[in-house]
Amino acid sequence: MLWGIVLKSSIEAVLEYLVVKALVGRTDVLNALQEYFIMNRSPSVIATRYGLSKHQVRGYVQRVVEKAGSIVKARVIVRKSTPYISRIRPIVRHTSYGMVRCLVCGDEMPAIVSEDHVRKHHQGLVEEYVATVIQLLKREVLKSRAKGGIDA
Ligand SMILES: [Zn+2]
Repeated sequence: MLWGIVLKSSIEAVLEYLVVKALVGRTDVLNALQEYFIMNRSPSVIATRYGLSKHQVRGYVQRVVEKAGSIVKARVIVRKSTPYISRIRPIVRHTSYGMVRCLVCGDEMPAIVSEDHVRKHHQGLVEEYVATVIQLLKREVLKSRAKGGIDA
């Protein structure tokens, strides 16, 4: 039942966050979140593995928890959405050091502002991905209900 409640409330905000990370190619952040929420690894272990600081890992985790509303919901959303989020191809490509080019509009920019760029200029694309992931998750819930399984 938990999954049904999550689906109606906080899922969009979390998915939007994950989709934007995927679209700018931040697989390190997505992997870090998966290892934290799914594999229960500690921020220091995750930080070392992905060349992030412990502080950064905690920051990413905190943002997802805030958007989800609770750590339990965050865990469910990250776990359920990971197979779909990991299929999203980045829309930016690294050019020279620290710079990226947006493959949708052709603009070149510092990588550090690429998330803002995607949110500001390609919000429609972000929303499309979020809607698609939600559709796929709903289908999963319906399937598991039909089988009489536990859906959380
Ligand atoms: Zn663009």
